[in-house]
Amino acid sequence: MTSEANTGEVILVGGGPGDPDLLTVGGLRALQQADVILYDHLAPLASLDEARPEATLVDVGKIPRGAQTAQETINALLIEHASRGSRVVRLKGGDPFVLGRGSEEWIACATAGIPVRVIPGVSSAIAGPELAGIPLTHRGISQNFSVVSGHVGPEHPASSVNWDAVAKSSGTVVILMGVAHLAEICEGLISRGMAADTPAAIVTKAASPQQQVVRGSLAELPQLAVSAGVEPPALTVIGQVVSLELPG
Ligand code: SAH
Repeated sequence: MTSEANTGEVILVGGGPGDPDLLTVGGLRALQQADVILYDHLAPLASLDEARPEATLVDVGKIPRGAQTAQETINALLIEHASRGSRVVRLKGGDPFVLGRGSEEWIACATAGIPVRVIPGVSSAIAGPELAGIPLTHRGISQNFSVVSGHVGPEHPASSVNWDAVAKSSGTVVILMGVAHLAEICEGLISRGMAADTPAAIVTKAASPQQQVVRGSLAELPQLAVSAGVEPPALTVIGQVVSLELPG
């Protein structure tokens, strides 16, 4: 269980969404060399097959509105294993620094004197739309994209997002963690000036065999998502790029 040094290290590995093929070469190497791997339900779970047989695998899954491991517990586990000399990988879905809590894990480790580094991953915010055939930018259609957390809606006091600016941003908007508040988000964007007929799509379980795409206007999308039984993990893409038909 111990590596050469007395103190081990923590590597935050971006697993990409769903599919082990979206793991970087560096991320794969870190998994293969790990003594301990802490992973959650958004990580590409098939990648765990790359772990050494003697590696310890710890599920710290945080299922929305389900059983949760507190972030403080995850931080403490990372520190505890690394201070015993282990090479610890924290395997996450997507990129560790995009709307996850990777930076908090970094700060907790560094504060405890544990060497920590990050291996970036492919964010679902980019890969999800792309795998559904939706480019985030396209010359003449969209020159920018914003990635926004929908874990609270635009009318919630805890939202620090400038939803007025998002509604007027003219480019593409990607909402993560927005399934529960999809209606409030779509209505909020329309009431702040975004056209109700703006093309939109919700991509569920991107990069997995269960990937599903629901398309409709911004006004229709919440009802279409309910009818299709959409559940997390899913992301929403809003903008003219959604109606761009990529030739097959
Ligand atoms: N750091 C991650 C995002 C963490 S927030 C990243 O870069 O991808 C979690 C949210 O990401 C989910 O609520 C969902 O909106 C999105 N997400 C993660 N994996 C996904 C997948 N396979 N398909 C669709 N959305 C996904």
